[in-house]
Amino acid sequence: MWSMLPAFAIIQPLKLFRKTNAWYIESYPRSTGDFPSNVTEMEVSHSIKMAIDTWGQHLQKVGYRFTQVHDYLVNDIQIYWLNGLLDERTHAVAGLKMGLGNYVVYFNDKDYSWIANDIPRTTTDREIQSIRGIMLHEFGHLLGFTHLYLNECSGRTSNPYFCAGPDIMVPFSGQDRDYFELSPVDLSRLYNKYNIPEGLDGEYKCEFNSALSDWIPIGGSWQIQNGRLIANYGIGCGSIWCPQSDLLLKDQFQPSGDWEVSVDFTYATDNYFNYGASGAAIIIWESPSKKIRISVGHGGSEPWGFNPETIMPVSFCAWDGTWDNSRWNYINYTWRPREWHTMTIDKAGNVYTVYVDDDYLWRYTDNYMNGTGKIGLQTYGPKTYDNFIIRTKD
Ligand SMILES: [Zn+2]
Repeated sequence: MWSMLPAFAIIQPLKLFRKTNAWYIESYPRSTGDFPSNVTEMEVSHSIKMAIDTWGQHLQKVGYRFTQVHDYLVNDIQIYWLNGLLDERTHAVAGLKMGLGNYVVYFNDKDYSWIANDIPRTTTDREIQSIRGIMLHEFGHLLGFTHLYLNECSGRTSNPYFCAGPDIMVPFSGQDRDYFELSPVDLSRLYNKYNIPEGLDGEYKCEFNSALSDWIPIGGSWQIQNGRLIANYGIGCGSIWCPQSDLLLKDQFQPSGDWEVSVDFTYATDNYFNYGASGAAIIIWESPSKKIRISVGHGGSEPWGFNPETIMPVSFCAWDGTWDNSRWNYINYTWRPREWHTMTIDKAGNVYTVYVDDDYLWRYTDNYMNGTGKIGLQTYGPKTYDNFIIRTKD
């Protein structure tokens, strides 16, 4: 939270004024309160890094960088634990140290027990989470954000002193609870103040090594196994009225304008239907009732795909409640379904050009969605995907 301290002249910046910022932990919590802390310096450092990265991943789009240093001579942001200098109800304060040009975050060390123990916290992990949550809030102050008043917060309740929402910049709220993401309100203030362009700028890459947290599945089954994405939507559906299954990339990673997207694919199998397939499909999505699917590859009843194929099917299909409006093309092309291949789609306005392994297959002009729509992966039947990449074009 924010309070004026007579001993330290701290003012709040209008905006972070340096693009490159080195942060430095001047002192660590000593836990002089009643609470016996067993938090290590490494845990504190990691927890602060997580908080800074939460803001920093958005700010890097407009050139801001934040790196930890271990030399106090070169730091821009100093983080202290101080004993007894803060009001006992204050977790931490942040601002600009006047005259020195450095930003400072003072945590309350005297009442560190209070920080860790103000709501029931029983493990070391919860203490660390508390430091992370508080730092997330204080860093918002360094970026020039004032408090969100309770009547502006997302989770308004009938109690005027309590905000149930996840906004980080509400005092006595975000930092006291287990919120570690910026809320839509926090994000819109950040994007406005720093003129950050919405959506992706540059490159987005997903290697499917951990959770699918960047994605929103719509139907079907989407699972990461051994660093690959395994997708399935049962072919038993069979009709042109099946919406099939999409995995949409979240808005913050969606490109605007023109782009190139590529994804690796190889053989996949659906044991229930004794069916195997090798192919890839991209969805361009506006709503559950309006989307287009661009696909390559095919499949067959097991055993299938051991021999080279001499045809590569390419399709461009529009969904408006049915897949009635579908265009298929069968390209003479020799490929091995059980090997890895890369599908690439290049978008220029409403013209989509499809490649496999850098070989041109087909170009299609779309007048149904006219170059709009969000990107995702798609499946009908089984798919094995890896290394999804989007690059925006200037
Ligand atoms: Zn505050």
